[in-house]
Amino acid sequence: MAIAKKKVTKPIAKKSVVTTKKVSAQKTENPSSDDFWKYAPAPESKDHVTLKEKYDLYIGGKFVKPNSGKYYETINPASGEVIAKIADGNEKDIHLAVTAARKAYDQHWGKLPGKERAKYIFRIARMMQERAREFAVIETMNGGKPIRESRDIDIPLAANHFFYYAGWADKLDYAFPNAKPKSLGVAGQIIPWNFPLLMAAWKLAPALATGNTVVLKPAESTPLTALKLAELIHDAGVPEGVVNIVTGFGPAGASLVNHPGIDKIAFTGSTPVGKYIQKAIAGTPKKATLELGGKAAHIIFDDAPIDQAVEGIVNGIFFNQGHVCCAGSRLFIQENVAELVIRKLKQRMKTLIVGDPMDKNTDIGAINSKEQMDKINQYIKIGIKEGAEIYQPECALPAKGFFCKPTLFLHTSQSHRIVQEEIFGPVLAVQTFRTLEEVIEKANNIPYGLSAGVWTDKGSKIFNLTTQLRAGVVWANTYNKFDPASPFGGYKESGFGREGGLHGLYPYVSLQS
Ligand code: ADP
Repeated sequence: MAIAKKKVTKPIAKKSVVTTKKVSAQKTENPSSDDFWKYAPAPESKDHVTLKEKYDLYIGGKFVKPNSGKYYETINPASGEVIAKIADGNEKDIHLAVTAARKAYDQHWGKLPGKERAKYIFRIARMMQERAREFAVIETMNGGKPIRESRDIDIPLAANHFFYYAGWADKLDYAFPNAKPKSLGVAGQIIPWNFPLLMAAWKLAPALATGNTVVLKPAESTPLTALKLAELIHDAGVPEGVVNIVTGFGPAGASLVNHPGIDKIAFTGSTPVGKYIQKAIAGTPKKATLELGGKAAHIIFDDAPIDQAVEGIVNGIFFNQGHVCCAGSRLFIQENVAELVIRKLKQRMKTLIVGDPMDKNTDIGAINSKEQMDKINQYIKIGIKEGAEIYQPECALPAKGFFCKPTLFLHTSQSHRIVQEEIFGPVLAVQTFRTLEEVIEKANNIPYGLSAGVWTDKGSKIFNLTTQLRAGVVWANTYNKFDPASPFGGYKESGFGREGGLHGLYPYVSLQS
């Protein structure tokens, strides 16, 4: 790493005392300055994790074989190794799941008082906390994200969502005063691969709290934590049929969308599939919330705390491999500090550790699948061809699995495809601006509107921007901060409807006006 060549008097921020000592010892044996800054491996143990060889569908409170009799292999994207076989659900399985969910709704769950529903949801939350380490390891094995993220962000936030919505279950009359909130019936929920357990929690918790039953379709490449959640829900004694989990590919999702027994669709995924869903349910009474793609503007003004902003940029796009729909993938820097910010950003990029996601030191883990890796590589080629200047730090990538270096594209313009299109990888397109009006214009000139970030010392600038940016979430002097109490969702091609907070209850109830 280039930083090692400098004379540094104290270890850079993240190095622990223990690590420094160990590597100092290494230095005595091997005086190479490069080795001085290497972290000792810190792999998370997998010993406490039990996984079955084969996973069935969870329908009507039981694990059942798929109608087709077919199973597909789910892999660890960091090594390519097969972790388990997963049931390939089809239209008939979806029908069984919807029938089970309807029965559970009509006979039990739909009539259960809120405080009784809350007990189950609280139990799910508590059990998830108890098994948090197991969930974190499986999330990282199946999804490729660094264990630090699974452990510190995904799993605690998922449990917090269940806690938060459990709290609302017996207070719906206060959430919607004089509106007599009623559950809708059966919700069909389809989730993506970037936050597998967290997305399941975002979908299930408000649906159950408001008295609906559910059929959930996890993403094909990351089904394991949802299946573990099925086991947990079973152990929690949640009545049969209240939650059904059908694994499979796109056609299983489409069957769920088109099933006449579904009252509401909640979808998080790509904009093309979101458009397909909207067309498919047009003219039906089905309600929908769609959380789709994004291309967030991350705006740095010259009065920003630059070092913190650089950390925010790194957090916004490079951590979690850019596999975040709200990733800050377009960077706008005020012209007079552009050189400084870029220099500091490059310096920080050199210190990022790309590699084994199970290692606690890793910043950038594995890309989730070969398809996604190919797509990112394709966009990197497009960026070069479009004439943007590429920067990638020198770092060795593991020989196996799917990995991508953090990538910066400088001198981009609004018309570049890497600026307009969602890449979903650790690729950042940089532009500069001079005035507030110019940056608002540029930030909004995009088909998406999910999120944005702004760094400035001036509160007035923040308020000015937040009212003018067409984005569902605008973070100020921070980035990618989530809380179950705060709503999330998009404008324009980023979808509609809000998840999280009080707003997240609306899509699951009908109200009397
Ligand atoms: P991504 O590009 O993030 O993989 P997708 O939109 O392709 O996003 O996938 C998100 C979820 O939507 C996955 O669970 C996937 O299986 C499901 N899906 C894919 N195609 C369809 C479809 N035509 N109808 C419903 N769900 C679908």
